[in-house]
This record gives sequence, structure tokens and C-alpha cells, in this order.
Amino acid sequence: MYGSIKNHLKKELQDIKEAGLYKEERIITSAQKAEIMVNNSQNVLNFCANNYLGLSDNAEVIKAGKKAMDEKGFGMSSVRFICGTQDIHKELEKAIANYFGTEDTILYAACFDANGGLFEPLFTKEDAIISDSLNHASIIDGVRLCKAKRYRYANSDMADLEEQLKLAQEQRFRIIVTDGVFSMDGNVAQMDKISALADKYDALVMVDECHSAGVVGKTGRGVSEQFNLRGKIDIITGTLGKAFGGAVGGFTTGRKEVIDILRQRSRPYLFSNSIPPVVVGASMKVFEMLEQSNEIHDKLVENVEFFVNAMKEAGFDIKPTQSAICAVMLYDAKLSQNFASELLKEGIYVTGFYYPVVPKDQARIRVQVSAGHNREQLEKCVKAFIKVGKKMNVLK
Ligand SMILES: *Cc1c(COP(=O)(O)O)cnc(C)c1O
Repeated sequence: MYGSIKNHLKKELQDIKEAGLYKEERIITSAQKAEIMVNNSQNVLNFCANNYLGLSDNAEVIKAGKKAMDEKGFGMSSVRFICGTQDIHKELEKAIANYFGTEDTILYAACFDANGGLFEPLFTKEDAIISDSLNHASIIDGVRLCKAKRYRYANSDMADLEEQLKLAQEQRFRIIVTDGVFSMDGNVAQMDKISALADKYDALVMVDECHSAGVVGKTGRGVSEQFNLRGKIDIITGTLGKAFGGAVGGFTTGRKEVIDILRQRSRPYLFSNSIPPVVVGASMKVFEMLEQSNEIHDKLVENVEFFVNAMKEAGFDIKPTQSAICAVMLYDAKLSQNFASELLKEGIYVTGFYYPVVPKDQARIRVQVSAGHNREQLEKCVKAFIKVGKKMNVLK
């Protein structure tokens, strides 16, 4: 039976390759950190990980993970509500709520699951979901699983959002849904305006803080801190897989009743395994460290500032960023691919993004700055960009 679908799949794969869209994976043979070993042969500086706070290989975090594994075992072998909740899971949920200034938190195996399981338990076909056009795939999938009426507004376009909110007045409940930081440009959602519109048109607000938590705001506590909205955003989702150590795991944090209902009805929570003690213990340490001092976050802010300024001074076209994502605009798809390959030869690992991941003729290299980079590494990266930029006629 496999014969006919096999041929079909082979053809599909061939088509993907011919379209130049086949994704190859580079094999890292070291730990994930600022300097990594790729393909067992080349040491490169890593500027394309979500390791914003440089905690992926942090010694204290690893030690806490080992301790948790020693004391609480390796696996939970159960979903949370049957026999998969330990004291440390509850402690981590509380630590996350403290960090964001929210009432309660529910853990998931990933933020993809947090977003996938968020909407269907809360909203029915009587309700409205008003979603930014550039929201993450997991939000789009989560919204699809829910019967609420869907409205879409152009990325960060507040006039369009207001139009959609007017149209959505006929529904029972409304929720505005946005990423905190949009991952291709590094721009921050205009939460002050979104929150004001939500008040005016009687809507809830949900923000996905995957790229903003740990990064944005005076102490890195995300968009609610940046816009003075602590405790006022109804629902925040986030990941343990980026700034907070980068392992795996997600969460939804916010209003108590919302979290309570999710524990009763959210399918990825009810029908999927609990996160393992090693991740819980290590993550507890991450939040403890971030409570104690703002040193790591300050370092990230300093690094971003240094890098962006140096790149602008060199003459690169940088998208205005308010996060740790720095989009170096090259516009041409082929150029972005070649540029990234040349940088790899210089020991700098970055990724070029082009259509359909970004709009046509908006190809770019996305650089992700980390608190784990030292000054010398940042300088080496800028130097390599300048060298390749001159060679490829991007810089005069
Ligand atoms: C990375 C990301 C996710 C998925 O997070 P995981 O925990 O890796 O599943 C969801 N939303 C946004 C905006 C992200 O950037």
C-alpha cells in the first residue's frame, strides 16, 4: 500500500527542493551557547538562537536541574491531573505568576500547546477573536480549533484593530490577541494602545510573550512592564524554551478564573504529559536568579545597544528594534542566502529569511543578540558583517 503515497511524497519533497525551500539542519556537536561547534568541524559564534539571557548552558541552572532530577526522578509518566503534579510544578507556576505580576499560571509541554489549548475552552461561536496578522503559527492553530468568529487586523495597525473591534461588537465576548515581540522585525506590540482600545470596546487582551519575556521592559518582565500594564493584561502565554534557559515547556499566566478553567478543559494540558522535574527544577533557578538581580538583563540591553549602533554606524539598513532581534535588511532573497553562507565562513552563524517567511523583496538576516555574548564576540560579528557587506556590495 505504501507504494503510491511514497511516490507522491517523493514528488512533494522534490518540489520543495526545486522551490529552494527545503530546510537543511546544521548539526551542533557542542552545548548550545555563544560559541558552538557545528558539524564537528567548525567553531562559530551563534547569533541565531533564542538564548537571549545566555542561560542555556548556565552552570547554576544545570546544577539545579541535576538536583531536581536526583530528588524527583526523571519522568512523570502521567498527565498533571492523574498523577503528574509534584510540589515543584506548583512552585514553578507560582514563580512565573510572581515574575509577571499575575494571579495564577498553568504549565504546558510547550508554548505551542499553551496557545493551541487556550481559546477553545474559553470561547464559543458567540464570541470574537481579533488577531494580529503576524501572530505566531501556534496562535493561528489555537484560534482554528475554536468556534469563535475570527477577525484579523494588519500587523500593529491600530486603526484596523479599531475597525475590527467595531465589527466584533455584535459578539458576546471579544479578545484581542497579539505577539509581544514580532519575531521577524523585532518590533513590540503597541500594548498601551491595544489596552486602551480593549477598554473602549469591551475586549479582553491576550499577549504571547515568547520573544519579549526576559527581554523587553526595564527588568525584562515583558510588555506589561514596558507599558505599565502589570496585572492588567488578562492572559499572557510564554515559553521556557527561549530566554528562560531554552529547554522546553510553556505556560499561560493571568486571571485566576481563566487559569482554573484551562486546568479543567484545556486539551493539551489534560491529554499530554507533565514537564519533567529536571526542567522544572532548572527553570525555578532561572526565575530565582532573575528575581535576585537584573544583571543578566542589563547585559542583554547593553549588548543590543552596542550591536545595533555599531551596525548602523557601519552603514547597514537595520529595522527599528525594541527587542533583542535585529533585522539586517538585504531585500533580495538570493543575496540573503549568500550573505549568510559567507558569514558562516567568517565564523558567524546567522540565518537569512526570505519569502514566504517575510514579505516578497523584504529578505533579511535576523541577528539575535544574547547576554551570553561578550564584547569581543559582538565586535567579531560586526567586523564579519562589514567584510562580507563590502565584498557583496551591500556597503559602499
Ligand atoms: C517560539 C514561539 C512559540 C512556541 O514556543 P514553544 O515553547 O517552543 O512551543 C509560540 N509563540 C511564539 C510567538 C514563539 O516565538
